[in-house]
Amino acid sequence: MEQDIYDVVVVGGGPAALTAAMFTARRGLRTVAVAKDLGGQLALTAWIENYPGVDRAGGHDLSTRMRVQAERDGAVLAFDEAVGMERHEGNTWILQLASGTTMQSRVIILSFGLTPNDLGATGEEMLRGKGMYYCQPVDAPRQDGKRVAVIGGGSAAAEAALELSRVAERVYCVHRREALRAEQQLIDRLSACKNVEMMMPYVVDTVRGGGAVESMALKPADPETGDAVGTDLRDVDIDSVFVAIGHRTATTWLDGVVDRNTRGEIIVDRDCRTNVGGVFAAGDVTDITYKQAVISAGEGAKAGLQAFKYLQDEDGKPAIMIDWDARGKS
Ligand SMILES: Cc1cc2nc3c(=O)[nH]c(=O)nc-3n(C[C@H](O)[C@H](O)[C@H](O)COP(=O)(O)OP(=O)(O)OC[C@H]3O[C@@H](n4cnc5c(N)ncnc54)[C@H](O)[C@@H]3O)c2cc1C
Repeated sequence: MEQDIYDVVVVGGGPAALTAAMFTARRGLRTVAVAKDLGGQLALTAWIENYPGVDRAGGHDLSTRMRVQAERDGAVLAFDEAVGMERHEGNTWILQLASGTTMQSRVIILSFGLTPNDLGATGEEMLRGKGMYYCQPVDAPRQDGKRVAVIGGGSAAAEAALELSRVAERVYCVHRREALRAEQQLIDRLSACKNVEMMMPYVVDTVRGGGAVESMALKPADPETGDAVGTDLRDVDIDSVFVAIGHRTATTWLDGVVDRNTRGEIIVDRDCRTNVGGVFAAGDVTDITYKQAVISAGEGAKAGLQAFKYLQDEDGKPAIMIDWDARGKS
């Protein structure tokens, strides 16, 4: 059966993807954004205060506003995961999705950011989503009266622990070094919380539970290396684990398709072009220096405009490159 051909498929649901989708949709291009979730890393931050024009907003709230804006202009958001892509006939691309379906498009914009790191503990895989969480602000309200563990030593972990301490009965902060490396004011606020207990230096060896998390087994860690030492296990009863140990690029599904650097970031030129015609990339997933929400949004806008230019060139038509002119607001 013939498949619908999109003008643009955007991969991702964070600031880069939602902005790219808005810009291509505003050009009248048939656009769909395929995303594992809404907001990406932005949705993980309780508050964002350095996004121009927005004094202070919740990360999830700002992402929702971006989604509404993209949909207002005609983009469609589909929740799925891209797992592969290949060149198809007629200068189009086929994107393979985790659901087993495919999408065909003339342009692909890769803007799928960074993926939260796994803990690497025994039992983690089985309990994912059953008490093992990687997204604190969204899941925090469900922790009312529970015993929770927050794993990680950076500001994201400290923020998560603070947020959780408001609702949870007890919060265990587990870190493999002797001290947190979060911002000092966050550490000070955590120290003042009566229901927060620091467990350092420890690593999580095992997360246990049948249908849901019930306990974790900690192993002492070498504070220099952060590696587990010895065989002693310390068992702690808990209801949930929040993992906040950083993010990584997860781009191996693009092997043999687009060029990446040694960190796995997609290599782009200043106009968000990859080494492959019809494939653009934007935001944290690329080899740009600064990884910030406003920068990802700006890169997404550039990728969207560049995608439009590419399609106009393909069709032998002129491309107006400024967005406001397309709306007659000169
Ligand atoms: C805790 C925390 C606090 C932060 N605070 C700030 C701040 O205050 N100010 C600031 O400017 N920046 C902040 N940042 C950084 C900012 O959030 C990121 O730079 C920005 O979100 C990157 O946007 P992005 O769209 O490039 O990627 P991401 O936000 O990483 O979004 C990636 C999207 O792609 C999706 N995805 C991933 N793989 C696939 C796939 N294979 N198929 C489909 N979808 C996929 C993800 O689910 C997600 O929706 C913070 C980050 C964190 C983690």
